[in-house]
Amino acid sequence: MQRIVRWSIIAAFAVLVVTLVLTMVAPSTFGRFYLKAGDVYLFPGVAGPADSASVPEPTATPWQQFSAGTNSRLAILLTDPDSAWLGLAHGLKSIGVPFLITDEPGRAMRHRVVMVYPMLAGSVLEPEALARLGAHVRSGGTLIGVSVLGGGLNRVFGFEAVAASREHERVSFDTAQPVAAEFTAPEEQEIRIGKAGQAEKSLGTHEYLEPRYPPLATYEDGAAAITWRRVGDGHAFALGFDPGLILQKGHGYRLGGVAPAYVNVFEPTGDVILRLLRNMYRLGEPRAVTLHTVPWNRALSVNITHDIDYNESLANAVDYAAMERALGVTGTFFIQTKYVRDWNDKVFFDDTSPQHLRALADLGMEIGSHTVAHSKVFSAFPLGTGDERYPDYVPFVNDDREAFGGTVLGELRVSKFLLDHFGGGPPVRSFRAGYLENPFSLPQALAATGYRYDSTITANNALTHLPFRLNYDRGPATELEVWEFPVTIEDERPPALTSRLDQALDVARQIARYGGHYVVLMHPNETGPKLEFLRQLIVALQPDAHFASVAEFGRWWEARDQVEVDVATDGEALRVGLNAPQSITGLTLELPAGSALTNAEPPVNSTQAVTRLVLDEFQGELLLTLTAPTAP
Ligand SMILES: [Zn+2]
Repeated sequence: MQRIVRWSIIAAFAVLVVTLVLTMVAPSTFGRFYLKAGDVYLFPGVAGPADSASVPEPTATPWQQFSAGTNSRLAILLTDPDSAWLGLAHGLKSIGVPFLITDEPGRAMRHRVVMVYPMLAGSVLEPEALARLGAHVRSGGTLIGVSVLGGGLNRVFGFEAVAASREHERVSFDTAQPVAAEFTAPEEQEIRIGKAGQAEKSLGTHEYLEPRYPPLATYEDGAAAITWRRVGDGHAFALGFDPGLILQKGHGYRLGGVAPAYVNVFEPTGDVILRLLRNMYRLGEPRAVTLHTVPWNRALSVNITHDIDYNESLANAVDYAAMERALGVTGTFFIQTKYVRDWNDKVFFDDTSPQHLRALADLGMEIGSHTVAHSKVFSAFPLGTGDERYPDYVPFVNDDREAFGGTVLGELRVSKFLLDHFGGGPPVRSFRAGYLENPFSLPQALAATGYRYDSTITANNALTHLPFRLNYDRGPATELEVWEFPVTIEDERPPALTSRLDQALDVARQIARYGGHYVVLMHPNETGPKLEFLRQLIVALQPDAHFASVAEFGRWWEARDQVEVDVATDGEALRVGLNAPQSITGLTLELPAGSALTNAEPPVNSTQAVTRLVLDEFQGELLLTLTAPTAP
């Protein structure tokens, strides 16, 4: 008896030791303990990708990359290169305001509209430059000072003093003032810019004391957030918050939770800031030509997207695709290449899948990736080696808090390999992570594995309903050739989807007032009421919206991002020089009021509707001649 007890203790101890060793030394091996023969689906003779992926070390994007152009642009006088200027640049690209960046005050002041960024102070500008900025306003120029902290220009801007704060969370606009008059929705009239007391989300702001004129915007405590003084034809605006920092943190998913809702509602903080800057630019530059945000002068751009992450969804997806094709819409189908049975689900990427992929491709739909493992802890995955290959790459989801063997590069490159191999369409370019899990390494990993378009953040977390360019590590310094298309409407949050068609259409109407972007995420886990909901949504949006797949719209947006616009005066006429390195169709220009096209060189088909000029297709340089604008 005693001997049995002793052996039991020894056996229990041995099991404990083995368990501890496996847990500590090789967690991925431990995970595979639960894998049985047949849990990994093997396509005979299929292995890859053959190449390796590598993520290069980041090289900071130089501001000088944005320094070319003529004096019709918004000039950004950069007073600190170690600032969020790249966030500002990406935002201005998104809203379509032509700009250049310079660190020479003399160069900046050749422009009618000058933004001093990120600070206007005696510590960053010489007395002579400060004096010239004051003279610029008096001679009819427009000066936008961000964080005006000194330099003796308080009188030019029309306030007595400035004070710093980390408590401000909201900014309200006085919509009686012209540059803010278009903010008619409550969500635009008061925007959320941060969260006090939360390290990364509490933005330092400045308030302007004793403003001589009614402030254009105030914080929630009534302090002046933006002042506006008119001097003859000149304008002096002082911003107390950093627009580039808010945009950059929003784009980098650093302000999650600043908006009360995660998804499905209108949350236009970044868009209001950009529209405001566009209005200031138009006010100060009568020759202003800006780029509309939607192709073919439509009001709204829409991506209908589907996440296939459940074993019946791929077959159902073909029903959705057929409905969309019948309505003339090209959807994007983000497909999980699930060849491993785990806690999530059984294998559903197997020999039944290629026929469905071909059916989607035959209907003209885009196929994108929705990872291999669809792990809820994808954000915590290591980057990986870039040598992950099917079938050796076996990510195993243990539960909603744990997964073994998965890497960010593996999830991207192995799913893309299988979808490219079996897809029957063009190479996969678009990605969405499961659960919208967003690792810091995702942007550079996407760039390294052949993707260009991502849709993994919600619009409400990014604080914008406009697409934008992504940076390395979702940080401030290094831009990548990857663009983000934030999710607007999804199908799983309460209340039940079928009860919220009006709400979804209302969000679309709000966004359409300024040409925003609208991404619908619909899981084809069933085909009944959800499919009918989507059909009704598409039909209701079609009169005003431009529909495209993520990759189609992504290509257009990428081409638009690179379009340069410069305007010169030639007697009474305006000469608009455009340069589009990539071919672009349906680019829509917003012209000065009263201006009309008289000539295009080389010739291009175009149509004009009031101040909007739509260009059919062009690439390279294009010179447009316009009649003189009507005086404002
Ligand atoms: Zn999913």
